[in-house]
Formats: sequence, C-alpha cells, structure tokens
Amino acid sequence: CGIVGYIGHRDAYPIIIKGLQRLEYRGYDSAGVALYDGNSINLSKTKGKVDDLKSKSESTISLKGSLGIGHTRWATHGVPNDVNSHPHLSNSGELVIIHNGIIENYDSIKKELIKRGYTFHSDTDTEVLVNLIEEVKNQEGVKLGKAVQIALNQVVGAYAIAVFDVKKPDEIVVAKLGSPLAIGIGQDEFFIASDASPFIEFTNNAMYLEDEEMAIIRLGKEIKLRKIKDDSVV
Ligand code: GLU
Repeated sequence: CGIVGYIGHRDAYPIIIKGLQRLEYRGYDSAGVALYDGNSINLSKTKGKVDDLKSKSESTISLKGSLGIGHTRWATHGVPNDVNSHPHLSNSGELVIIHNGIIENYDSIKKELIKRGYTFHSDTDTEVLVNLIEEVKNQEGVKLGKAVQIALNQVVGAYAIAVFDVKKPDEIVVAKLGSPLAIGIGQDEFFIASDASPFIEFTNNAMYLEDEEMAIIRLGKEIKLRKIKDDSVV
C-alpha cells in the first residue's frame, strides 16, 4: 500500500501515477487518485493495478490540476472494490483523504457520526476518519490542521494520511503513526509519499515524519510540524 501527493506548479497527475507505480512493490489491491482542477475534485478509483487506474482516469476524468493525492490500497476494512478504494470524500464533498493503516475504533465513531446525520458510501475505516475530521472542523470551528489533530486524538490505530480541503487548495495536511510518510521539499512545491522514490527526480530535500507527528504543508510557507498528542495550537 502507498500514498503519493503533490502541491505546486506542475501537473499533479503524472507525478502521482508514476509515484504509485514506484510504490507497487509495497503490495496493493486497488488504486485511486483525486485531482483538484481549480474548481472541484476529480476522483478516479478502481480495483486492480495502477495501470488500470491510468486507463480509467485517462478516459473518464479531467487530469488537470497542480494539487492531487493518490493511493494504493491494501484492504483491511471492506472488500477490494472501486467504492472502497481511496481517496475518500467527506459528506460535504470538501475534504478528501488517503490513508494507509487501520482505524481500530472506527465502528463506534461511525455510529456516533450516523447519529449526527452522516452517511457512508464505503465500508472503510478511512471514510469514517475523513468525516470525523469534517465534524470536528465544523463543531469546533477550527482550521483543517487543528481538526486533523483533534480527530487523530480520538482515534486508535495506525496511519499515514494526507488530506486537503477544496476550500483551501494551497494546503495539504499529513500525519503519521506506524505507516511511513516522507515529504519532498522543492521550489514552491511539495511532494508526499510513503518513501522518497516518487519524488527523488524532483528534489533531494526530503524529510520523514516521526510517529505521532503531523505536518501542515502550505504553498509559500515553511512546513509546520506538530506532535499529534500535543494539543497546543496548530
Ligand atoms: N484501512 C484502510 C482500508 O481498508 C486502508 C488500507 C491500506 O493501508 O491501504 O481502506
């Protein structure tokens, strides 16, 4: 399983597809990509290989955009199929997430979110997490980074995640516990991946998140690193 993300000035799609191919050695059963084209999120997901994702994406969605995230999934919750593949959207359609790992207490969180009116389209633990982040963001009136931090403090499990908000398309928030997460720092651009292989040709400036660390990656800014458990302001 693997994750790839890009924010900057190049087309995100080729970087993500090539990156996912380089991460194929990690094993997976399905793949997907979400691209922000300046207006909305274009999503393409499929059971099968990255090559299948490539064919599907190239015939069904707009490949425009310099912000995007891609995923290869090794199913833990929900069978391998197109719907359960990542990325997953929140109920508002504004937040989009990729996740490697497991949210162990997803069932109790899901029940609580359903009581609050949330609906679920997949059987994944990941779709529960993105909606928890949305709920926290709305209830607490906080920014995405803080919402991710608060949500992750309610979660038991393991993860490498990347999430962005269509309403704030200059930012990607990432976090890690258990699964690997590397950030490549370029000139006015950032790369995210499970290891450095997807971005090695673009930059040799890489950093690796520690367990229980998160980062707010914003164009034109220094990366903000935070401890997930430290609830001082993000
Ligand atoms: N637990 C998530 C799922 O089943 C992520 C699996 C993975 O690590 O790829 O969708």
